[in-house]
Amino acid sequence: MEAEFAIIGGGIVGLSLAYGLLKRGKSVCIWDEGDSAFRASRGNFGLVWVQSKGLHQPAYAQWTRASARAYRSFADEIETVSGLPLNLQQDGGYIIHMSEDSLDADRKLYDGLRNRLGGDYPFEVMGHNALKTEEPNIGPKVAGALYCREDGHVNPLRLLRGLTIAVRQLGGTVRTGHRVTDIQPQSAGFTITDQNNTTMVAEKVVLAAGLGAMTLGPQLGFTAPIRPQQGQIIITEKLPKLMNRPNVEVRQVDEGGIQIGASSAEVGLNDREDVATVAGLAAHAVDMFPKLAHARMLRSWAALRIMSPDGLPIYQRSVQHPGAFFVTCHSGITLAAAHAGVLGDWLTDSAEQPDLTAFGEDRFDV
Ligand SMILES: Cc1cc2nc3c(=O)[nH]c(=O)nc-3n(C[C@H](O)[C@H](O)[C@H](O)COP(=O)(O)OP(=O)(O)OC[C@H]3O[C@@H](n4cnc5c(N)ncnc54)[C@H](O)[C@@H]3O)c2cc1C
Repeated sequence: MEAEFAIIGGGIVGLSLAYGLLKRGKSVCIWDEGDSAFRASRGNFGLVWVQSKGLHQPAYAQWTRASARAYRSFADEIETVSGLPLNLQQDGGYIIHMSEDSLDADRKLYDGLRNRLGGDYPFEVMGHNALKTEEPNIGPKVAGALYCREDGHVNPLRLLRGLTIAVRQLGGTVRTGHRVTDIQPQSAGFTITDQNNTTMVAEKVVLAAGLGAMTLGPQLGFTAPIRPQQGQIIITEKLPKLMNRPNVEVRQVDEGGIQIGASSAEVGLNDREDVATVAGLAAHAVDMFPKLAHARMLRSWAALRIMSPDGLPIYQRSVQHPGAFFVTCHSGITLAAAHAGVLGDWLTDSAEQPDLTAFGEDRFDV
């Protein structure tokens, strides 16, 4: 075998998995298509976010919280190995509401989740005045916010770069510009072939190809029921400090720009931004933080999320080919610490296994 693990996809998910496997002493080769592919890891919002995850599936809320808890030491490791500051800040975050009714409706949902978790779910409701004490620049139209002390944000591009460096330093191979076209199960292992007919044989294969899994998944017996969902984001010029904590729609990045987004639209494999959506995002941001009316927008972009039918991750071992695994998720930045951590126990069949029963593909069987 040329490697114990071949990972198809060098986005944040594939790299996080690779890092965890290399730390366990496994040999890993990542195959990544490169710039011609849709790459959510290069277009996301950078939140390490607990709120809104698992409102209807407590196992997902717990999985997300476990990743958020593990994040500090994960980020410290990547910073040490790569020498890149990731600017992780986990000092809490908000979901801002513009009406009392929507704030109250959300509070009821979070109360329900807290009850299902036996009272262990950290959120607070803040009215306008309480929020204004923390965030003096909110506008008069803001009704209040939900606050969760476990929320935070990170520089997602440095995380991606830092992980790539860390994977290489631990002895992993990252092959970019290699679009995998064929994965053939053998009596032992898998033969992987790319667009140039380069091949390799690996004992196990992990499909972490984002939207590329829609076509590769069935080769390994996965249904891969994922779809693209477009999100658009704006970044402004660098500004003096405008906010202390991120909220789910606006955050001040470590370099000073205000990042605004992300929209969501079901438009298929379309990653082009449009003026109407960008204008809507900007107007809403100005309602939340009126000082933004004077900010200059530097650029905007669109990227495609990788969505499962219920928005939860999919962690599935192939029934037909047990050495093949499928990993995908909606929140790969947030879950990077879990993917680099305990998910490696699942991939390596270790005695200690995370409980992934809520995340198999079979939950979509009718
Ligand atoms: C607008 C937006 C905002 C977001 N905000 C957040 C956020 O705030 N917090 C958060 O946690 N998550 C966020 N996300 C989600 C997060 O970005 C994704 O969950 C994450 O990037 C998925 O990583 P991935 O590695 O699975 O996919 P990708 O980043 O898409 O990577 C897949 C990789 O597979 C490769 N590939 C595809 N096909 C093949 C093939 N045939 N052969 C070889 N390689 C292949 C591609 O080259 C690509 O590099 C956001 C996403 C979007 C779009």
